[in-house]
Amino acid sequence: MELDKMDENDWKYHGEGNKSLVVSHVQHARVLRLLKYSTEDAENSPKTTDQAFRHIQNIVDYSQNVMKPLLGEKFVHNGEAVKLPLDFVRQLSLKVQQERPESRCDKVMDTLSGCALCLPNLTQLSSCCCCREHRPPLCIEIKPKCGFLPASRHITKDVKRKVCRFCMHQHFKLANGKWKRLSRYCPLDLFSGNKQRMSLAIKHLIEEPQNNFNIFKVVLNELIQVIVSALLSSWDCPRSGHLRNTQLSEGRVTCEASLLHRDLLRNGNHCLPKDCVLDKILGTQMLDNLDIEGLSPLLKRVEQHLQMFPKERCRLQMDGPYNASFLEKVQNCPAEDDGSLEYAVGKVHQYRVAMTAKDCSIMVAIATCGEDDGLDQSLEIQTTKPRFTCSVSILDLDPKPYESISHQSRLDSKIVNHYLRRTQPNN
Ligand code: ATP
Ligand code: ZN
Ligand code: MG
Ligand code: MG
Repeated sequence: MELDKMDENDWKYHGEGNKSLVVSHVQHARVLRLLKYSTEDAENSPKTTDQAFRHIQNIVDYSQNVMKPLLGEKFVHNGEAVKLPLDFVRQLSLKVQQERPESRCDKVMDTLSGCALCLPNLTQLSSCCCCREHRPPLCIEIKPKCGFLPASRHITKDVKRKVCRFCMHQHFKLANGKWKRLSRYCPLDLFSGNKQRMSLAIKHLIEEPQNNFNIFKVVLNELIQVIVSALLSSWDCPRSGHLRNTQLSEGRVTCEASLLHRDLLRNGNHCLPKDCVLDKILGTQMLDNLDIEGLSPLLKRVEQHLQMFPKERCRLQMDGPYNASFLEKVQNCPAEDDGSLEYAVGKVHQYRVAMTAKDCSIMVAIATCGEDDGLDQSLEIQTTKPRFTCSVSILDLDPKPYESISHQSRLDSKIVNHYLRRTQPNN
């Protein structure tokens, strides 16, 4: 990509989330991820080009130095911060505006800084012999959300140990008009490792995708089986299922709100193959092992310290830099609270990393591999199943700002209290 010869006609609208808008190149397997900001929220608008570039570089560092070691080399593509010609960005913004869904238009694309993140286009297979034009790859994106029930002793409402956060959040979102229908998807089914439960979880995502499921090009049933296999495949290790420690000790890997048949939920056969994409994400999510309720007093400890010693913010890497020493703090945090500031900071960092893993997406790009190229097309009934090749990647791995933790704390009690009122109105 020659940055000085950028032409908006080579790029098209690809998709967007809450924080960024993505355009893809019409020929090369590249995307540009541009940040968005709310016109009402001057705080978050980009300031100078240098600041915007540093912000994006921070995202790259975090993906590369923190999330990649945790989630696995093969799944994470950190990309590169780029400075684009302003004229190109302005033309691009005008071009994509009409493609944008109205629900996302409360924010505008950053056309002032010219900075963006350049990534491989993960909807396309990275190295595949069979990506011919007549056999377009099929690609699905899953935003799985949090796949375990918290076991922390700091939890005050018992319902949080029984009903998962996603299922409770659904009721809250319905009441607030965010969605019109409850999703029957439960992340614990997807992360169960039980093929039947996983297949139903995917079926439920397809029935009511909300923003947790997206199909880029399609066909069905068989598709579900291919997705389950891709999510369970681990390339490094032989397929040996394992249960994570906390799940073993707590013995609870089902959510009471999951609408699957009781027998299926009781069926003990659930384990994720070590190093499959779901196992990696779940392991990282579980760095949040105190729950927000156990983290809040530690957050206070950190905040009080920072009030007294504001300069410490830098040494403690509260806003980065996201380098090996940050990862060290995340991975070597003491297991028990010794009352120290270091323990509190370690847990706060772990919590933020877990938040990223609870909010990421999995991209599964699938292509069918024909037996031969079918020049000799006899009208035989096809008895062999099509074979597939898949590439699996994880995206949307931004650091979650330190300041967003206190928002999580308020949101958590709102969701839980709303769920309790809805389901047990007499209490
Ligand atoms: P969220 O609101 O979920 O936090 P976000 O604003 O952080 O989203 P992303 O999820 O990173 O943004 O990107 C928005 C969408 O663009 C994704 O859901 C995905 O469909 C698409 N996308 C992002 N990165 C890539 C990529 N490297 N290749 C292909 N598609 C991508
Ligand atoms: Zn659930
Ligand atoms: Mg996203
Ligand atoms: Mg995001």
